Amino acid sequence: MSDQSGSLEYPYQTAPAPGTSLEVASGVRWLRMPLPMSLDHINLYLIEDTDGWYIIDTGIRGQETQDLWLDIISNELGGKPVKRIICTHMHPDHTGQAGFLFNHCEVPLMMSHGEYYQARSMGNMMRDVGNWQMSAYYRLAGIEPAFLEQLRDMRSSFTPEAEDQPFPGSYMRLTDGDILDIGANQWQVMVGSGHSPEHVCLYAKDLRILIAGDQILPVITSNVSVHGTEPEANPMDNWLTSHERFKSLLPHDILVLPAHNLPFYGVQTRLQQLIDHHEDRMLILEEQCVEPQVAVDLLPYLFNRKLEGMTKIMALGECIAHLHCLIGRNRIERREEDGVYKYRAIDPTLVDRAKPNQHEPLDDAPGRV
Ligand SMILES: [Zn+2]
Repeated sequence: MSDQSGSLEYPYQTAPAPGTSLEVASGVRWLRMPLPMSLDHINLYLIEDTDGWYIIDTGIRGQETQDLWLDIISNELGGKPVKRIICTHMHPDHTGQAGFLFNHCEVPLMMSHGEYYQARSMGNMMRDVGNWQMSAYYRLAGIEPAFLEQLRDMRSSFTPEAEDQPFPGSYMRLTDGDILDIGANQWQVMVGSGHSPEHVCLYAKDLRILIAGDQILPVITSNVSVHGTEPEANPMDNWLTSHERFKSLLPHDILVLPAHNLPFYGVQTRLQQLIDHHEDRMLILEEQCVEPQVAVDLLPYLFNRKLEGMTKIMALGECIAHLHCLIGRNRIERREEDGVYKYRAIDPTLVDRAKPNQHEPLDDAPGRV
């Protein structure tokens, strides 16, 4: 099976059924857990060591996934115990069951430093929605005050304190370049950034396999956003730099095991597609900013459907991520006028680079993971 452009190859047509796993290489198994959203699944992986198993990502919080883990542990591990839990990054579909597995199996959690501490601070961050700096961030982007009130209400429905299985209070650190000896193979930690600050991928050169998490997805694009917690961040620059670096390090013929969609071959092609996609989005914004624009008014040029609630906030975060990258390249300038930031194209070569009406189709929605 190929994607629309015929450039990626998918060796598996169907995913393993819930509560079961499928061997995709010697000692490497693939399983799926449900997600309660339009993207209805996450892929998780198991790596076999001589004396137990590494779990890579854990699924979302809740009884359904927890019960499926009990099935997996009873039926899919060949009688060996779980040995370590690795979370590629801090997002809730990856870390939701980390607390349960940590306590149930009594084995360490391994994460990068940045992801571990950001996961631990999620509850605090939700409490901070609406502080003066976050409020200013949204106001300057052109968001109406009434919409901010709605956001505060959304915050109150998020209660991390009610967690039945709190996030693990201790961990083991993974750092870029670390080598994990697991069974007969060496797994190299490769850290990417942009979707999350210090995202861990695991590369087994001899097996020709990369466990990619959300760093490289084959069909959808990962969310790359500026958030109110760091209003001046430039995550798109991190994202594009990571993709260039992965392109320079990874051979093309490896099997990529992503956290969503199906395992695929064609990593170099996919990384270039993702780079091209974001460059195209940035060119659209430059073209629109020949006349100074407010961020919220640029959303219809990136997304083709009506955006509401959190979807609008995610779309705005993605739009600003592209704008900040353009500011970093001296292609856009930002000035505060009448209480909002106005973005204006300032690069004289835009005249030659512009290609209105020749862009990729608009995105249906901001990245959902
Ligand atoms: Zn993620």
